[in-house]
This record gives sequence, C-alpha cells and structure tokens, in this order.
Amino acid sequence: MLNRLETIKELFPKAQNFRLKQIECAVFDAAISGWEEVTTLPQADRQLLIEKVPWVSYRAAETFGDIEDDVIKALLTLSDDAKIETVLMRNRRGHWSVCVSTQVGCAMRCVFCATGKMGLKRNLTSDEIVDQLRFWQKYLLTNLGDEERITNVVYMGMGEPMNNYEAVKDSLNRILLNTEIGETRITVSTVGVLPRLDQILDDEDWPPVRLAISLHSAQNEVRKQLMPSSYDDFLPKLADWARRYNQKFGNRRHHLTFEYIMLAGVNDSSQAAEALADYVLKIDNVRVNLIPYNASGADYEGSSEETLERFMSVLEQRDVTVTVRRSQGQEIAAACGQLAGK
Ligand code: SAH
Repeated sequence: MLNRLETIKELFPKAQNFRLKQIECAVFDAAISGWEEVTTLPQADRQLLIEKVPWVSYRAAETFGDIEDDVIKALLTLSDDAKIETVLMRNRRGHWSVCVSTQVGCAMRCVFCATGKMGLKRNLTSDEIVDQLRFWQKYLLTNLGDEERITNVVYMGMGEPMNNYEAVKDSLNRILLNTEIGETRITVSTVGVLPRLDQILDDEDWPPVRLAISLHSAQNEVRKQLMPSSYDDFLPKLADWARRYNQKFGNRRHHLTFEYIMLAGVNDSSQAAEALADYVLKIDNVRVNLIPYNASGADYEGSSEETLERFMSVLEQRDVTVTVRRSQGQEIAAACGQLAGK
C-alpha cells in the first residue's frame, strides 16, 4: 500500500524533490491544519491534494485527560471505524513522549495485556502510525504554544511492531527525516519476533533506533505461560541474537532494554531475579526495566513495593543495570488497549 508521500508522488509525477520535501515538511508542521493552508504550493496543486489525499488518516479523535495531567490518552477513529489508542506523557524533566500503536489489536495474546484480549484486527499503515505523533504535535501547539516539543517516541501502544515490519520501518524513517526527534529518542518494543529481529541486523533501511524486548521472565516455563508466543528455545535464541545485535549496533548509546512486568507470585521471586541476572549477564550491554503492572482486569496482581525493591537489589548486587518505570503514567501507557478494547 502506498503511503501518503508515495501517493503524492503518483499524483505529481513530474514534481521535483524540493517540492515533495516542501509537502512532507508541511505535513509535519503542526501549525498547518490542512492542504488549503500550505501556501508554499500553487493553488491548483493544493486543490488536487484536497480532493485526493486526506490530510490526516483518522476521522475522529477523543482525548482523555487534559494538558495539566502527566498522561493524556487519545482514542483515534480510523477511516474504517477501527479505534486505536495513543498516549502523550510528560516525564519528570518536563519532556514530552508519545506512545504509538502499530496494529489494531494484537495477535500475541500476552495474558496480562488488554490489547492481547482483542486479538488482531489489522495492521496500521505507516501514515496511521505517523499521524498519532502528528496528532499530539498539534495538541501541544494548541494547548501550550510553540515552546513545547515532543522529544521521544515509544512504540509501546497496541500491537506487535515486528508483525508490521514494513509500515513500522517506514514510519520510523519518516519521523527521523521530518522531525528533530533523534534515533536514540525512539524505542521500539517487541515480544521478540526472532525472524524479524534477524532481519533488522541485515536491513540497510532499518534505522538504529533503540529496541526493547518484553522479556517478563528468564525462566522458560514462566515465560511461555505469560506469553503464548514464546517457545522452548526462545531464551537461548534471543541471547544469541542479542550478542549479534551488540556486535552490529552496540555501544553506550545503543544498549538493549529488557522489559520486565512485575506480577505478584508469578515472576517476582528471588529465584526469578537470580535467573534474570544469570540470563542478562550472558549478554553484554543490556539494561533491565522493571514495569509495575497496570491492572486492567483482575487476572493478576502487581508486585508490592517491597517485593519490587528486593527484586531490584538482587539484580543490583549482581551488577545488572536496572531501572523502574515509575508512575509518570508510563505504565498507564503500557496498558494501551484498555480504552480501545472497551
Ligand atoms: N507488543 C509489543 C509492544 C506493545 S506492549 C511488546 O510486547 O513489547 C508495550 C509494553 O507494555 C510491553 O512490555 C508489554 O508487555 C507491556 N504491558 C502490556 N500490558 C501491560 C500491563 N497491563 N501493565 C504493564 N505493562 C503492560
């Protein structure tokens, strides 16, 4: 499927590069609300664009929360009535991050995840991914004026990015090309679809953004129970991939992150922490990010603060670099899918 820019190229086959750049630039300019406002273009071109190319790929948007909050969610209704969630978050330093969805629903069926319960409806197009960021750029401009910028994007909303590889890659490249958001400020989170992760290592067009792997357990049986997409030799295969990833991309700016959701009595024992340390220490340049569980159903309970501290200190004693995703609302974003699933 053609993305917006490719459609425009077909519409203006003789257009020079500078003209196409001008158009793509305008698309990412939050001060512009439609083709009629792109005054750098001749009137006839603007008219053709109005008729042929939708300015945004959603047809309705509802926001939850307001600019005073640290977390604002939006439910976007797409052209086929599918609904997706996207989140704007302010972190402690006052920086803005956006969490984007990559699919309507998800086929991975992780047992703790609201989106997993929906099953997969369809992939998003790269425009539909990019437009979640554009939605928030416009929102920030409208609510806070010109001073505020979105500095980070996380691909942690609904869906499994590696199961929508081409659209995700295209969206990454277009964001990198048209915004000031840099490679190390974008994180793609995945359950670890190994054929796609292998593809990244050989793909010249895959940009060196950060990757986070949803590990959630370094114990095979536990991981399989939590994540039905896992299988018996997943963990050794992931470790092998991670070493190859480090050879290609690894340096201090490009560490891998293993995400680990803390579920009471499931994966938060001292043995589980030791197993995680053993696993991580076999790979270089990995950080662990502990995620408090966002209770969407009553299926699981999040670990207590005490347990979390103990789990963390086991890792620290073993010299594993570990951080906790504290409640700047990021765990709320992680539970993306709770609104759209309703
Ligand atoms: N499919 C990708 C990206 C979307 S989920 C992935 O699995 O990584 C983004 C992150 O949120 C993942 O680490 C996921 O495991 C986590 N997550 C899902 N449901 C959650 C919940 N209820 N509470 C906390 N984190 C959750």
